[in-house]
Amino acid sequence: MGAYVSLPTWWRSNDSRYRLVLGKCPECGAHNFPAEGVCASCNADADFEEVEPEGTGTVQAVTVISGGAPPEFDEYQTREGAFATGIVELAEGARLPGMFCDCDPSEVSRGDRVEAVVRRLYEQEGVPRYGVKFRPVE
Ligand SMILES: [Zn+2]
Repeated sequence: MGAYVSLPTWWRSNDSRYRLVLGKCPECGAHNFPAEGVCASCNADADFEEVEPEGTGTVQAVTVISGGAPPEFDEYQTREGAFATGIVELAEGARLPGMFCDCDPSEVSRGDRVEAVVRRLYEQEGVPRYGVKFRPVE
């Protein structure tokens, strides 16, 4: 989060951002996010099989951002106030960073069950950027 993403890069990656794609390692079967690079589990430099996760997971870490957000989140923070961000471990085992939505940021805790939803993240160069966020499930 916080890195500038150019429009061409954004459009190229749009598909996976909307769909939330994991890479299944052909060597050990671990699920990786992002779905490229080296397997986080066995370090194999292999071509991952793209897998769509079921979309539910568990909060592993959470931080409430109430000031000093990256510049592209200024508008969001002004509009929404404090927000929670953190790390979610999906049911498949992959861990990924994300923002939490549809909840009071102070009520997100480690161990909470969440599900992935696609939401507007912020606007850059006049184009709304969408990405995956997590919302609590009962
Ligand atoms: Zn592996």
